[in-house]
Amino acid sequence: MKDKISNYELWFVTGSQHLYGAETLKQVNKHSEIIANALNSSSYIPLKVKFKPVVTTPDEILEICVAANTSKECIGLITWMHTFSPSKMWISGLNILEKPLLHLHTQFNREIPWSEIDMDFMNLNQSAHGGREFGFICTRMGINRKVVVGFWQDENVQQKVGIWSRAALGLNESKNLKICRFGDNMREVAVTEGDKVEAQKLLGWQINAHGVGDLVENVNAVSENDVDILMEQYKKEYNINTTELDNVRYQARIEIGLKNFLEKHNYKAFSTNFEDIFGLKQLPGLACQRLMEQGYGFGAEGDWKQSALVRIMKVMGEGLEGGCSFMEDYTYHLDPNQAAVLSAHMLEICPTVSEEKPNIEVHHLGIGNKDAPARFVFNVPEGKGINATLIDMGGRMRMIVNPVDVIKPKPLPKLPVARALWVPEPNLEIGAHAWILAGGAHHTSFSMALNTEYMEDFAEMLGLEFVIIDKDTNIRNFKKELRFNDVYYHIRK
Ligand code: MN
Repeated sequence: MKDKISNYELWFVTGSQHLYGAETLKQVNKHSEIIANALNSSSYIPLKVKFKPVVTTPDEILEICVAANTSKECIGLITWMHTFSPSKMWISGLNILEKPLLHLHTQFNREIPWSEIDMDFMNLNQSAHGGREFGFICTRMGINRKVVVGFWQDENVQQKVGIWSRAALGLNESKNLKICRFGDNMREVAVTEGDKVEAQKLLGWQINAHGVGDLVENVNAVSENDVDILMEQYKKEYNINTTELDNVRYQARIEIGLKNFLEKHNYKAFSTNFEDIFGLKQLPGLACQRLMEQGYGFGAEGDWKQSALVRIMKVMGEGLEGGCSFMEDYTYHLDPNQAAVLSAHMLEICPTVSEEKPNIEVHHLGIGNKDAPARFVFNVPEGKGINATLIDMGGRMRMIVNPVDVIKPKPLPKLPVARALWVPEPNLEIGAHAWILAGGAHHTSFSMALNTEYMEDFAEMLGLEFVIIDKDTNIRNFKKELRFNDVYYHIRK
């Protein structure tokens, strides 16, 4: 069996009833176990899929939902209606279920056995109407779930279950995430602000601020010996493209001090603010990049929302090809043949999206008024990526996602930052237009491992407003969608 990326489990729960008799239920159990095992060994599904005995009464359904809620290992339920499961039986269970739900609308046999089929076969294999009864109760109760339709052995079905299971992993991370803010947000900036109480209630994020002095104390406490050891690692893993090694050493010192602090408090994401680095000799650059490479979420200028999103998207994409980074739309290339965005940040782009072994360089930085900070410099490789951002609409959070095609930039000899050149879907004109209408931030979490479906599943689990800008986007319809959403979320509130 393949390696799983964590010990978390998805429970495979099949609904039925006693009408059909013991023999049929035995058969249902057997089929369910076969499907659960197939999903468990699917290379598309990175979590364990655990078979659970078929449920046939309201009490059994309630019991399994209670067990799922309180289990630390279970992070989602896959339900399948092999036969008809009268769905009033599901009401009390679904009423209290807190874990994400996937409704697998499949059946045990792929094809109709034309010459053999009789009424016994029909009564055993009736997902086609059992699944509709279950769908009705979920819709009637307003239960967010993913519906996957198709034959359970098919690649695209297993892929969809796999994508949802990674979203469930993201949700689990979200519900347990602690975010450290060093200082507050950049003065006067609106989009990086947000309601931290609402974020905790909805997304589970514990967002706490620390004075930068706490960081400075930890940075100063790092021994020269520890810095020596980390510098050796830098020399092995990267190209040191500078003679100003003292400046690199200082970032190594920040990295160690910062990591010690985050580990001590169990923070998995953090934000900095260049306006609030009193006592540090450099703005943390290389240090933030290195910590992102190690899986931490990061947001600049106090942007805790994007920091948390980077962490969650890193968890969702674990083991997949392609990295994930904090990102910022910076400068346009308004070439009529192919308009593109040059994206970067002052310093802090994660080397998991580097095309090759990154260079470590030291350059003066006009902003922040400190010593020249060491940073990684690299290009992001050509390929597909997505930008996701989270904004606070006042009363609700909105997630906006836009796929992009990363293209090759011309040489940029005088630009000493990590950067990506991309064309947003459907093109820069409509993509940027829609993004701006939606209120999308200049900061994003950029991933080359995930696509929009992962984010849609994640947003669905949380009931987050989800706005997608892609090849199907048309500005007139998009404006309407935003207006409809305003009404919908207003009514729902
Ligand atoms: Mn910024």
